[in-house]
Amino acid sequence: MTEPSFVSPLADDPLAPPMALTIGESGFRAIIENASDIIARFNPLRQCTYINHRISHYLGCHRDALIGLTLKDERLPATLAIPLQQAIGRALALGREQHLELHATLGGAPRVFDTRCFPELNSDQQVTSILCMARDITEASQAKRLLTEENAVLEMIADSRQVNQIMYSICRMIESQLPRCMGAIMTLDEGGHTLSLAAGPSLPPAYAEQLEKLPIGPEVAACGAAAFWKRSIIVNDLTQSPLWESLGPLACQLGLRACWSTPIFTADHQLLGTLAIYYQEARSPSPVELRLIYRCSHIAAIALQRNLHEAQLYRLATQDGLTQLFNRRHFIDSAERHLNQARRYQRPVAVMMMDLDHFKAINDHYGHAVGDRVLSVFSRLCLRSLRTSDIVGRLGGEEFAALLPDTTLEDARIIAERLRQHVAQAELAHEGRAIRFHVSIGIALMNEQDNLDSMLARADRLLYQAKALGRNRICIPQEAVDGSDQQGELPLGLA
Ligand code: GH3
Ligand code: MG
Ligand code: MG
Repeated sequence: MTEPSFVSPLADDPLAPPMALTIGESGFRAIIENASDIIARFNPLRQCTYINHRISHYLGCHRDALIGLTLKDERLPATLAIPLQQAIGRALALGREQHLELHATLGGAPRVFDTRCFPELNSDQQVTSILCMARDITEASQAKRLLTEENAVLEMIADSRQVNQIMYSICRMIESQLPRCMGAIMTLDEGGHTLSLAAGPSLPPAYAEQLEKLPIGPEVAACGAAAFWKRSIIVNDLTQSPLWESLGPLACQLGLRACWSTPIFTADHQLLGTLAIYYQEARSPSPVELRLIYRCSHIAAIALQRNLHEAQLYRLATQDGLTQLFNRRHFIDSAERHLNQARRYQRPVAVMMMDLDHFKAINDHYGHAVGDRVLSVFSRLCLRSLRTSDIVGRLGGEEFAALLPDTTLEDARIIAERLRQHVAQAELAHEGRAIRFHVSIGIALMNEQDNLDSMLARADRLLYQAKALGRNRICIPQEAVDGSDQQGELPLGLA
């Protein structure tokens, strides 16, 4: 049978030398001299007897300058020499290959080397030298760390951790990737006209303080401008930039020089904030750095967008859509919590039931849309007249309730009267006319047997008494007026 013609006679010839041996010694030398790994040999005194050209790429000196040096020589970077010396020591003592990941700072840049130290033995099995090979795995190691840190941040997002905590971790992730940089994330404030710092763990505190309510504008530092133009703003040297007119002197004084900022968007391009990198030296970003910034801003966007959705869901579940006051369920939940607390600490609590007077007539006269505006105006007047510690909710239709913690009946009456007057004085412009409206209010004070239902029921009875007595008035329990224990009502306020 004839052999297939594609089989090389050399491959089949058992007497032919292996391919490698055909290269010859000079060929091997050329390979080793020009290898992209660092290859070196040390004698048992830890003196370098050979090192290839690759080392000059990291140390900036000719390899000949290193021949004969021991690893104790102080001209060698300690972060490289000390761990290598220890590994060689172990290889000598144990006669076994040593494998280590060597983290060294060379020429100001952190490097990671996958390093192997092989003992070389003579015919008596004695170690005569140590052969070291170090492969630069800085990029792979950084990519691995980035992936690990990214996963940790994504887990935080999945766990619904606090958004500022997540922003902090993203800043730390950037800082671990780009040595000496300072990461900062600013988020859009309510209203959408300013940005505030959500995280900037390495920024000088005096500078971070200035990043509260930073206006969004074409010339307000890199972040304000990035948010304004909705694109990345790279400032290589902020001492030369017109964007730093106001923040510049402080930034210079604190040693900040470069700032690169990129906007953070939702999937449908709504602005969420900005991600910035500061440096203490003037510099522009490399493509690798830009890629990292975009990648991190994308993760920040996921976290911020999720936070936005959660806040929206919470608002939908707890707020009344028209008035933005608490809805019935949320009012009851919050009021019950407050009542329990007040009972535990024996603090006075008052509740108010409020109902707009002749509201149906407003709807009938001016239309439902005007009725809606009246409800909104009333809710704003409630917020203006009540204290921030008070809870106010829309129970339904034109019926509202408020719980006033730490409030005596007299205080509650004063607060209710203030609200009644604000409402009576309010005017709603409609087709050249001023619409006025009124509210009636019933008040109850917590007693020992009370729960929220019983308090609201008592306040409701007083509210209807206020209606019966002519509306636009407040009714409080009788004992507060005549000192008797009997539950009674007396109209206050003016009809
Ligand atoms: P009183 O002084 O006795 O409270 O009379 P009133 O007209 O205010 O009370 P009534 O219960 O007769 O009417 C309440 C009206 O409120 C009826 C309802 O159509 C209207 N209403 C309920 N919810 C809304 C709303 O969300 N928007 C508007 N515009 N009207 C509403
Ligand atoms: Mg009414
Ligand atoms: Mg009503």
